[in-house]
Amino acid sequence: MKKYGFVGLGLIGGSLARALKASDPECKIIAYNRSRASLDEAVKDGVVDEPLNEIGEGFKECDVVFLCLPVIKNTELLSDMSKFIGKDTILTDVGSVKGGIMNAAENAGLKDNFVGGHPMAGSERTGYIASNKDLYKNAYYIITPFEEGDKKAEVLKDIALSVGAIPIIMDADKHDRIVAGISHIPHLAAAALVELVKNNDFEDGSMKRVAAGGFKDITRIASSSPEMWKEICLSNELNISEYLGDLIDRLILIREKVDECDGAFIADLFDDAGTYRNSFNTLSAGPIKDSHKFTIEIKDEPGAIASIAIILAVSGINLKNIGIQHNREYIGGDLTVGFWDPESKEKAAEILKNKGYTLHGI
Ligand code: NAD
Repeated sequence: MKKYGFVGLGLIGGSLARALKASDPECKIIAYNRSRASLDEAVKDGVVDEPLNEIGEGFKECDVVFLCLPVIKNTELLSDMSKFIGKDTILTDVGSVKGGIMNAAENAGLKDNFVGGHPMAGSERTGYIASNKDLYKNAYYIITPFEEGDKKAEVLKDIALSVGAIPIIMDADKHDRIVAGISHIPHLAAAALVELVKNNDFEDGSMKRVAAGGFKDITRIASSSPEMWKEICLSNELNISEYLGDLIDRLILIREKVDECDGAFIADLFDDAGTYRNSFNTLSAGPIKDSHKFTIEIKDEPGAIASIAIILAVSGINLKNIGIQHNREYIGGDLTVGFWDPESKEKAAEILKNKGYTLHGI
């Protein structure tokens, strides 16, 4: 019988605990959470077997302990955790940045116990109340061991597979550069774009009023949790700063070309960017969405995708694109469907909601 420990039972910790319990009902789950109400809820749901009042000796017997707090809180907790885990306990985390916590684990003498983890699935919601046993289905789960062939990484890989995720083993530095480029910079850029409108609006607020559709779409991630994003940005500051520098240089060049009315440059810019973007793995990558699409939570069972295609087909709605979201961080929903026009999207959303489906990004 496996015993798992959780420190933090919010969206990510709660979803992982639910998924582990669903895949192995015999496993024992013990958990500490700042809010006792969420812990009690998890006990009532049959997800947590033993709620803990504090982070302490309770974790000694665990096979694996998951740290599921905000990034810096996880890192700060590491040195204390060495007192509370057994010799063979695997300690891992779910944080969105890996370098800092890997260093902290090494400094705390926890190299034999620690392996980094980052399940790339989430949503704009927070807390145990938003947790979902299917969150990790078909989502990438990045694992960052200290060295190749680490047995702890293999254990975490099996855990990722058992909750339906797709494990990828990767060096922590590479992980942090990747997420800086595809996630952290876009979040900061989205926040800056929103501020651009805020700072330049007319007294009557007309810029804000017409900033619907595309603008709202590409800046959706500016509404992410301030606390979580503060910790992410402060933990990956070197990569973020370097890529911000690249982005600023690019924007300065673009401004020069706009000042010079260099139409050929601008056309080439969109041509190059469009070609590269269209080569992305159909629907799985990146937080910035195409218009006319939303994601749907589906059951992991045969015919789940076909049912949706049939529901839409009998209603005469033509699909432009359909695909599984492997990178669902800050998005939610595991199947993305794209439509040719906003009317089809709206009609499809209405029909699917009436059939009881949970939709995101509508
Ligand atoms: P959440 O807000 O849903 O849960 C955070 C948990 O940490 C809650 O249980 C909260 O009570 C607890 N907590 C916060 N501050 C605390 C403190 N000072 N002391 C004790 N407990 C505290 O957030 P989440 O989305 O589950 O994020 C948790 C981790 O998962 C973060 O490290 C984040 O980087 C990572 N992550 C998030 C997503 C996402 O999309 N939300 C995706 C992948 C990884």
